[in-house]
Amino acid sequence: MTPTIEPAAGPLAPEVQRRGLVLILSSPSGAGKTSLTRALLVDKPAGLTLSVSVTTRSKRPSEIPGQDYDFIDRDEFLALRDHGDLLEWAEVHGNFYGTPRRPVERTLGLGADMIFDIDWQGTRQVKEKIGADVVTAFILPPSMAELRHRLERRAEDSRETIARRLDNARVEIERWSEYDYVIVNDDLGRSLDSLRAILAAERLRRERQTGLEGFVSGLLSERAA
Ligand code: 5GP
Repeated sequence: MTPTIEPAAGPLAPEVQRRGLVLILSSPSGAGKTSLTRALLVDKPAGLTLSVSVTTRSKRPSEIPGQDYDFIDRDEFLALRDHGDLLEWAEVHGNFYGTPRRPVERTLGLGADMIFDIDWQGTRQVKEKIGADVVTAFILPPSMAELRHRLERRAEDSRETIARRLDNARVEIERWSEYDYVIVNDDLGRSLDSLRAILAAERLRRERQTGLEGFVSGLLSERAA
């Protein structure tokens, strides 16, 4: 039986169950998406799991394998892809990235929610495959100058990598209109509040609350006290 998961805004009626959803966050590198994702996950009542991608990119010093990414080589990546073990995949900045399929199927099957930090190419594939259970949000930087500052401050990438990421940022930003929600991230706290609001509202969508019919007929058959 599907467990009842509480929305961030408060509990559903105990009889009402819910289908899990996938919240996809996309943005150019440096717009703050990773900080937002991490902050959202710290908030335990949100009951969210992060989808950990596989990538052929090298690990940054601050990253933890298995938590930020699973770092694999090109042959391993191609084997996963060719065996149908990836829900989606893309080449970004010259490296391969992909979402392992099984953890997603398992989590959604339990009625729990997942957050994906993936690019616009992956977003299109996930929408095609599990459309109704997908909610998409695009994070924009407040300015291109701020985006550059953030990439330079991070200081984990070489000059060439930063230049390549800035060029790619324009291509990524051009996809903003394919997303359900758009957040201009000029303040991390405010952006986090916006994301929590999106999640709370999407969890309450009528079509996601699978037990509503039974709950409402129960209500209607009750005698008023
Ligand atoms: P980074 O190398 O900065 O961690 O990520 C580069 C880009 O790849 C980001 O836009 C990130 O959202 C995207 N990305 C990370 N994991 C995946 C994935 O599994 N699939 C796709 N399509 N994009 C990903």
